[in-house]
Amino acid sequence: MERYTYFTPGPSELYPTVPQHIKEALAAGICSISHRSEAFRNIYAETSKAVREVFGAPAGFHVFFAGSATEWMERLIENCVTEKSLHFVNGAFSKRFFSIAEELGKRPVMIEAPFGKGFELDALQEDPSVGFVAVTHNETSSGVMVPNEDIAAIRKLYPQALIVVDVVSSAPYVAFDLSQIDAAFFSVQKGFGLPAGLGVALVNDRCIERARERAAEGISIGSYHNLLSFMKEEEKQQTPETPNVLGIYLLGRVTKEMLERGMDTVRAETERKAEMLYSFFGAHASLKPFVTEERVRSKTVLTVLTPMGSREVIEKAKTAGCVLGSGYKDHKETQIRIANFPTHDETKMQTVMNILKTI
Ligand SMILES: *Cc1c(COP(=O)(O)O)cnc(C)c1O
Repeated sequence: MERYTYFTPGPSELYPTVPQHIKEALAAGICSISHRSEAFRNIYAETSKAVREVFGAPAGFHVFFAGSATEWMERLIENCVTEKSLHFVNGAFSKRFFSIAEELGKRPVMIEAPFGKGFELDALQEDPSVGFVAVTHNETSSGVMVPNEDIAAIRKLYPQALIVVDVVSSAPYVAFDLSQIDAAFFSVQKGFGLPAGLGVALVNDRCIERARERAAEGISIGSYHNLLSFMKEEEKQQTPETPNVLGIYLLGRVTKEMLERGMDTVRAETERKAEMLYSFFGAHASLKPFVTEERVRSKTVLTVLTPMGSREVIEKAKTAGCVLGSGYKDHKETQIRIANFPTHDETKMQTVMNILKTI
């Protein structure tokens, strides 16, 4: 099988050092150690510290490991919402968060923006009665990113609420002030360039307190995973059940490498590559960026309109050894998506652009 380079938004191309780390993990017996052993506790502590550092998490934030990002949507609703949650919805992933609240029997409400657009926050009134706000930082289906100043504005609009942010396809690029929010979560097969099967949440003490209150009132906060059981195990640097030990190990290795390179460097590279791609498509004769408002254009997942159909473009890129993503669901035939994660090499991107020039 030919080995392509994956510019798909997730799963995506592995971070370049991952094969080496997997070899080392196998050699060290990481896949066989007990999840109650000191060796595992050290891995937990190291990964948790590195993740905290990447996000600049202030004191009072905990790092918990579960199965996926979608699981975190469910857990956070289950543990922190009594009745109503407020969702900013502008695409498939933010909609999923909303639907999970419905499926769990809550009464969620949404503030909606059209697909491909950001939110008009100026029109919103401050509402101290809102207890939980769900924001999708980077809507992977449409390629819209919530700017940092909007996160700060949302904090002001809902002073009492827990602000919970899905950063699945923007981490580790995302760099807003974590003291503005209460929880953030991601899975590892996107920006971190790792094999899927691990969902990570940064959760502050306000969320834990909310779960504790709900449990004390006799409301179910879940039996398999809940914030209180995560807390109890975290004290021992452990997880409630046998976790994805290899995944936690690899996340620690890769985040440490990114930290050594410097997060400012990693972020500046992401911005430079995004600029290169947007200016290329901005000037292209037929392929055009889908998101028109520059302020909300995603730096990590670009959506591009393909008037000739997405298939032709995707096939063309394959001749250069690169796999681009198709548009999301209804937009499959008319758009492509290109991931711009830390693993994505500028030279490879230029190869793709050279090939697409002629389309
Ligand atoms: C991919 C994605 C998810 C779902 O992640 P899983 O790991 O598949 O649960 C959630 N939110 C966003 C924004 C995503 O891009």
